Amino acid sequence: MTPQSPRKPNHDQPPRKPRLGPRPQPVSSPGTVACSGCQRRFVKSRFDAALRVCPACNHHNRLPALMRVRNILDAESYAPLPTPAGERDPLSFDDGMPYRTRLEHERTSKQVDEVFHAATGTINGIPAAVAAMEFSFFGGSLGEAAGLQFLTVCKAAVQRGLPLVCFCSSGGARMQEGLVSLMQMARCTAAVSLLADASLPYMTILCDPCFGGVSASFAAQADIILAEPHARIGFAGGRVIEQASHGKLPAGFQTAEFILEHGMVDMICERKEIKSVVATLLGALEQEGHARSS
Ligand SMILES: [Zn+2]
Repeated sequence: MTPQSPRKPNHDQPPRKPRLGPRPQPVSSPGTVACSGCQRRFVKSRFDAALRVCPACNHHNRLPALMRVRNILDAESYAPLPTPAGERDPLSFDDGMPYRTRLEHERTSKQVDEVFHAATGTINGIPAAVAAMEFSFFGGSLGEAAGLQFLTVCKAAVQRGLPLVCFCSSGGARMQEGLVSLMQMARCTAAVSLLADASLPYMTILCDPCFGGVSASFAAQADIILAEPHARIGFAGGRVIEQASHGKLPAGFQTAEFILEHGMVDMICERKEIKSVVATLLGALEQEGHARSS
């Protein structure tokens, strides 16, 4: 057995990086939240005050529907719009746990009744109705109750002669309601036409993620469509499309920036700018309306 010679440095290969072990995880402490973009932790109250936009990486973290509505409306003007959801279980669905039990659990744990939260008020002094979708509730999915809620909001806006601003965030149809869920696309489309018939402006802001039956109906039917930076927006998921088409999707596919380039949204807007941009646009549309009617 010959003794092994000491290993000589190989100058043809790049030097090995020192092993650092597993990446250190930020320590969770009470009253702090992590940015889902960079994982840094921030004091929750300050993070909320910044509308959950990360000061380190500018990632627009998900925002509850109530916060979205309250933030865009002038504080003293906020008036919640009742959108009764009721009990909906059209298929008596049970996948090991009855759908009604799941609904009850979601309602209790998320402290919301259904997907939409809506209110009326003013946006920098301009009267408007505002609705927002709660993604944390069944992935913001469009079930029968959510469809009814959206119709209720559209009717209320028409009755009061208000423009409607809607923050859309959804995974699409609600699987527990099958075909009844898909029918809500037609219901919501008809609801949008009520606003059009009344010559009332309708604006949507597409937030991450916005997919399926929502992006294929009322989210894309607005007079003006805004999107938050880097929001994922599409119909089917990218992986499903790649499997079906046997092709590689382009970089950045199904992002707000990509679909802006392809003309499917009008503008990408930082969250902190949304209120002033919406107010400016509504003001311009209001003036246009007055000019036409006079
Ligand atoms: Zn971050």
